[in-house]
Amino acid sequence: MRPSQITAWCQMILRTLAPREGLYIDATMGNGHDTRLLCQMAGETGRVLAFDIQQKALDETRRLLVREGLEKRAELILDGHEHMDRYAEAETVDAICFNFGYLPGGDHDIATRADTSVQAVEKGLRLLKKGGLMSLCIYSGGDTGFEERDRLLAYLKSLPAKEYTVIRNDYYNRDNHPPIPVFIWKEG
Ligand code: SAM
Repeated sequence: MRPSQITAWCQMILRTLAPREGLYIDATMGNGHDTRLLCQMAGETGRVLAFDIQQKALDETRRLLVREGLEKRAELILDGHEHMDRYAEAETVDAICFNFGYLPGGDHDIATRADTSVQAVEKGLRLLKKGGLMSLCIYSGGDTGFEERDRLLAYLKSLPAKEYTVIRNDYYNRDNHPPIPVFIWKEG
């Protein structure tokens, strides 16, 4: 499976299982492909908050949304996802999407980091409504290394099963540290 297929897999789960016309967060905006999906799901009445620390990501995403007439549905925020609790109230968000790593076509040194990623997932889970869904695509190896993957997986393993269902998917026949899609439902 190529990286674009992993994105398609995560998007398919979100599109199929998250409620429509809600409040959504794209925690790692990048080039805006996940923001676009969330805007489509938001419809006329929903809303999307999208975060990135690079102006380039906001510019690319705005261009994509304008091209598709979706720009009014999203607020593009130049801030780290570890601050997402400054922009939404607890238990108000229907779905949150993380696609960790660096901006494709950008500087590989500007990437998500273990500390802030774990912090952001923790905060995101507090913002999720009961019944809400979080999708995570976790990368490792190469420029990314292993610390972020290991810290995220350890944190996710520690989540209480009565409060969260955590489903991890694995590639079965690929070596060299393939990406790991994880889906979390908040029970309730
Ligand atoms: N979802 C994107 C898309 O559809 O194109 C791809 C995301 S890309 C793999 C990861 C993005 O996370 C990069 O654009 C990077 O700048 C951003 N990022 C890194 N640290 C961040 C942070 N603390 N908060 C928010 N975004 C961050």
